[in-house]
Amino acid sequence: MTAHGTVSSKRPSMAIREDRLWQRHVEMAKLGATAKGGVNRQALSAEDIAARRLLASWAGARGFTVTTDPIGNVFVRRAGSEADAEPVMTGSHMDSQPTGGRFDGIYGVLAGFEALEALEDAGIATRRPVEVVAWMNEEGSRFPVGAMGSAVYAGRLALDKALAVADPKGVTVASALAETLAALPLPGVKLGGKVAAYVEAHIEQGPRLEAEGRTIGVVTAIQGSRRYAVEVVGEEAHAGTTPRAARKDALSSAVGIVTALEKLMDDPTDTVRFTVGRFEVFPGSPNTVPGRVYFTIDFRHPEIAVLDERGGRIAAVAAAHARGCAVSVTPLTDVPPCVFAPRIIDLVRDSAARLGLPHMDMPSGAGHDAMHIATLCPAGMIFVPCLRGISHNEAESATPADLAAGARVLADVLGALADR
Ligand SMILES: [Zn+2]
Repeated sequence: MTAHGTVSSKRPSMAIREDRLWQRHVEMAKLGATAKGGVNRQALSAEDIAARRLLASWAGARGFTVTTDPIGNVFVRRAGSEADAEPVMTGSHMDSQPTGGRFDGIYGVLAGFEALEALEDAGIATRRPVEVVAWMNEEGSRFPVGAMGSAVYAGRLALDKALAVADPKGVTVASALAETLAALPLPGVKLGGKVAAYVEAHIEQGPRLEAEGRTIGVVTAIQGSRRYAVEVVGEEAHAGTTPRAARKDALSSAVGIVTALEKLMDDPTDTVRFTVGRFEVFPGSPNTVPGRVYFTIDFRHPEIAVLDERGGRIAAVAAAHARGCAVSVTPLTDVPPCVFAPRIIDLVRDSAARLGLPHMDMPSGAGHDAMHIATLCPAGMIFVPCLRGISHNEAESATPADLAAGARVLADVLGALADR
């Protein structure tokens, strides 16, 4: 029997420790703790530096190496038996929203770290190195470009562009990063090293797993999104003197358009996300027939075919309900869906099944660092439930048992990938 044959009989999930994983969350939640039980730990802040220091101290105690790259992503590596093999990577982010929760992002980092410790505790040698990464500035709340560290790593955002982004006080990423490195010097690595595979664990941030009584979400895709601006132009007129037949009421027209669009977006599977989040009426006077309405459309779906087909009909549906007004539909943004690698999806599903954990396939409604890394290597994600789906909120909550279940799936997936 080969050395690998011997070790593969042990599964890393057996060495996952729920108490240790939970305690690490408790420790991290102290860094930037808010009065309402959440955290405020924004990218490259004093609290973020403290979190980096804590992670590095835990890594050092286990003999893992800690490095950082030019955009401030932090990597914790457990060596493989083949030093030059491309690493298998896992992780998420340690920064939070200003009124964020104790699990968004940090869970993926701590579940990854727990998987590394489990490999170590079980004495499992892997062929490839396994690396936990804490991506810099995923939230984009201090420096307004979300998933910045992973975007730069994947070459989808230029390093100099990212370094020049400033927070509301005018502090640039470059200067905050220099301060972070001065406070916590770490050996540097080059940007964008090769990755064999990437798997990210995250709380669901939505209510589906809890509602369906499942512990593990096998994430198949991250939905794409399109935004549009719609302008309806009619004619201002006196509210008292103008008969209905003579009006070009931009509001009446806009309301009809929104109703028709809701019909267009109707979906028995409830997968389509359609939102009119801004609706402005001009001139906004009680006794003037509205002459102009501006509104936005946010439309999301995991499948490009649906985005193309229904998105492509928005302008025609709007025009058909113009009622004498002029309607223009302007596309603002178009983010394609990210479809994860079938072999990673299968591995997550099989690992959950082997552990006897109730699971379901599902797309992600929110964006994650994995969408950028998926352009570099086969990638996937594992979701665990969070209470009532509440996230980006200080009340965010998850159970120690569910967090550990996700870490077990992650550990087995990483262990399998690291021997391929
Ligand atoms: Zn997150």
